[in-house]
Amino acid sequence: MSVKSAPYYWLVCDHEGCEAKSTEGGDFSAWEEEDSAWEEAMNSEWSEVAGKHYCDQHTLIHDPEEKRLPAEWEVVDDIAIMDPDGWDRKNFQESWNTPITYDDWRSRMIRCTVARPLREWKREAGK
Ligand SMILES: [Zn+2]
Repeated sequence: MSVKSAPYYWLVCDHEGCEAKSTEGGDFSAWEEEDSAWEEAMNSEWSEVAGKHYCDQHTLIHDPEEKRLPAEWEVVDDIAIMDPDGWDRKNFQESWNTPITYDDWRSRMIRCTVARPLREWKREAGK
C-alpha cells in the first residue's frame, strides 16, 4: 500500500480574533480546488476586501461600501452612545440619521461617552 496526500482548501476569516472557517456548517470540511472553497465561502456571505477574507459576521464591518445608521452600529459593537460628541450637535437628528461606514462610525464613536454593553444598558434604563 502506498499512502499519498494532497492539499485541501478552505478559508479562515482575517478579522482579528475570529477563527471562523468557510466550511463550518457545510457538507465538506475542505475542498480539493481552491476555487470551490472560494465559491462556497461566497455562497455563505463571505467577502474579500483588499486581499483579505471575512466571514459573514465580519464582512459588514470591513466592507468600505457598507453604510449603516449609527443606531445599527451600536448593536454591532454592543455599545450605547451616551454623549454623542462625535456627531454634529447643531444638526443632531440629521447627523445621527445619516448612514456611515464602520470606519467612520469608529472614528466618531471614540470621541463619545459610551456605555457598554448596549443590552445591559437598555435593560437598566428600561428601554
Ligand atoms: Zn470572522
